[in-house]
Amino acid sequence: MLTPSLEDYLEEIYRFSLSLDAVRVTDISNRLKVALPSVTKALYRLRDEGYIKYERYGEIKLTDRGKESGYYLVTRNKLLQEFLALICSKCNYAAEAEAMEHYLSTATIDAIKTLVDFMNANPFCQQAFNDFVDLTD
Ligand code: CA
Repeated sequence: MLTPSLEDYLEEIYRFSLSLDAVRVTDISNRLKVALPSVTKALYRLRDEGYIKYERYGEIKLTDRGKESGYYLVTRNKLLQEFLALICSKCNYAAEAEAMEHYLSTATIDAIKTLVDFMNANPFCQQAFNDFVDLTD
């Protein structure tokens, strides 16, 4: 199990890996607004747990395990943002998903996914819910 902080590192490394050939420490440092020594420390933890390959000043490469976990983390974040839109929350989706994602159990994430899938498959239910929300506003 990764800590919330390490999950965020892995999530961002995965996001970068989709668009960059080589992910560098400075990319992660800038994105997460964390000082380089802290990023380096986190990278060694991720490396020791088998999620990335990383040597000092070198490139960061995801292992198969890292790719699989990174994909899950990015998908989970996207799902939560979809869920917040679905329930018509007036929050900042990105910030709220960021706050929620590490603390929900897999069971709850799965249940939320089922709800999002259900609403996507039954637009009239989503419409009825949206209308209800408009009425109670
Ligand atoms: Ca995150």
